[in-house]
Amino acid sequence: MTQSGSSGEISRDGGTDTLTVEDISAYAVMRRLLVDILWPHRRVLFVALISMVVGAATSGAVPFLIQVVADEVFVAKNEMLLYLLPVAIILVMGVRGVADWTSKVTDAWLGNKVVSELRIRMFETLTKADLAWVERTHSGRFVSAFVNDADIVQRAAAKTMTALVKDSLTVLFLTASMFYMDWRLALLVCAGMPFAYLYLTRQRKRISGSVRRSLKEAGDLGSMLTQTLQSLRVVKAYRQEQREAERFHVIVDNIVRYLMKTARSRAAVGPVTETLSGVGIAAAIFYGGWQGIYGNVSLGHFAGFLTAAMLTYPPMRTLAQTQAQLSEGVTAASRIFAVIDHSAIVAEKPGAKPLNVREARIRFEHVDFSYDNGTPVLRDFDLSIEPGQKVALVGPSGAGKSTVLNLTLRFFDPSGGRILIDGQDIRDVTLPSVRGASALLTQDPVLFDETIRTNIAYGSEDASQEQIIEAAKAAAAHDFISRLPNGYETHVGEAGGRLSGGERQRVAFARAMLRDAPILLLDEPTSALDAEAEAKVQTALDGLLKGRTVLMIAHRLSTVKRADLICVMVEGRIVERGTHHELIAKNGAYARMFHTQFVGETPALAAAGR
Ligand code: ADP
Repeated sequence: MTQSGSSGEISRDGGTDTLTVEDISAYAVMRRLLVDILWPHRRVLFVALISMVVGAATSGAVPFLIQVVADEVFVAKNEMLLYLLPVAIILVMGVRGVADWTSKVTDAWLGNKVVSELRIRMFETLTKADLAWVERTHSGRFVSAFVNDADIVQRAAAKTMTALVKDSLTVLFLTASMFYMDWRLALLVCAGMPFAYLYLTRQRKRISGSVRRSLKEAGDLGSMLTQTLQSLRVVKAYRQEQREAERFHVIVDNIVRYLMKTARSRAAVGPVTETLSGVGIAAAIFYGGWQGIYGNVSLGHFAGFLTAAMLTYPPMRTLAQTQAQLSEGVTAASRIFAVIDHSAIVAEKPGAKPLNVREARIRFEHVDFSYDNGTPVLRDFDLSIEPGQKVALVGPSGAGKSTVLNLTLRFFDPSGGRILIDGQDIRDVTLPSVRGASALLTQDPVLFDETIRTNIAYGSEDASQEQIIEAAKAAAAHDFISRLPNGYETHVGEAGGRLSGGERQRVAFARAMLRDAPILLLDEPTSALDAEAEAKVQTALDGLLKGRTVLMIAHRLSTVKRADLICVMVEGRIVERGTHHELIAKNGAYARMFHTQFVGETPALAAAGR
């Protein structure tokens, strides 16, 4: 889809909502909701069904009561019935009222249950899903599934359930009573139904198409919103406010366009059902009246029949309109299922045992790897890291260094070769045990919008306050934390925004300290810091490295110098390995890198390295 915005330059090709949504039939969606989600709550479902059946049956009883009133009270002058009938009507209406209340409350409960269950399942899928898939899909698409799509499913579930069961039954009971009273009249009234059905089916297809587009656009809107919020600094710095606003405008316009299309298709249902009901009732009045004048139809009979016909149309109209809502619900549900049904490629083998870490020896055995696009990223990557050894990966950007860390945490699986920790293939053991064996420290530490204490204890929830303070001291974080107004209870703000880069990093170190994982994976955690902050973090880092097996990505000489072994990576292969002095003496790729990159970085350090 391409549409020009007001500037004439803004176009959107396909949008950012790239998640594939399967075309599932309404029947399949409803069956799945019923079997998967509602069945455990079958008692409530049963109460809802009973109340709907009772509600529908009371509607079916009304025409008979009218018939009796007209025939027995007005025509036959039966006084006894004059006393009984009002009581009967009050009873019927009373039952109907209770049934109505029960069905509304139970429907709302079931609707909310469906949605909360769908949200929980989506969240579980997301947390267990492959990193690659989550990263590839725009976060706004997920937000939209949780908020927008779920909301539509909830409304649809609550409303269509009542309509489908109660209104269908009401129509059924009333039609049955019409046929019971006079089948010829009933045939007349129902003559238009097949046409209405065909017309509604056509409308439903149209509605489903435009609903799908509007939901996709709503997903794009979510994506764009999160993207803009995340990059507002750049948007402002490059003075792109107007352009972003125009892009937003295009999406909003598109949503309105598709929503209007849906609204028009939905509204088109009204005139058709109204006209058909008018024709049906007119025909019934004409034929019934004719029979009344020239035939032998009683007034009561006719009045009862007409009441049934009149009562049939409102639920029929609701049923017709439900088609639109059902379409919306089914489309939104299939978007939610697209998230829920994503199966992780990186999954635990059945019966997998936890990893047994003894010495924390890591072995990459001829590992090959490529991301989705198939371009090889690691080729025959072969490396053994001895217990307690510190290995640095150096090399140009894109050489595959981060990929090696990702594979060690089993965020992805190699396409060839194996990764062993203490002799165990990490694909054969449980996922949490693999990830629990390593602590990852990155350039940009991830903090959650919680207190410092919670952030440090993340992943070690049962740590005591003393242990937390001890970890913070070891990470050179205790002093700055103590100076904060609320100390360890200070909230760090979104993504730790209220702390400086160095402070964030030290909180992350404290977290790793507390986790006390035998393997440490470092993605140059000091590279984003200035010299002063780095000096503070450096001491903390040294404490952290002690006694652990370490695999680190290094861009700086200060990091490289911590390593017992340096591996130079180029295009996914290790082209050189050795200590700093060995590699300098070799005068190969590392030596060239050293002279172009490290020398001049920090003169004192560079001199020390030589
Ligand atoms: P380095 O850390 O050495 O800079 P990376 O391991 O990040 O290198 O990346 C190696 C190659 O893999 C690069 O060409 C990069 O474009 C590609 N790559 C990295 N992550 C992904 C991903 N999630 N999906 C597809 N390709 C990726």
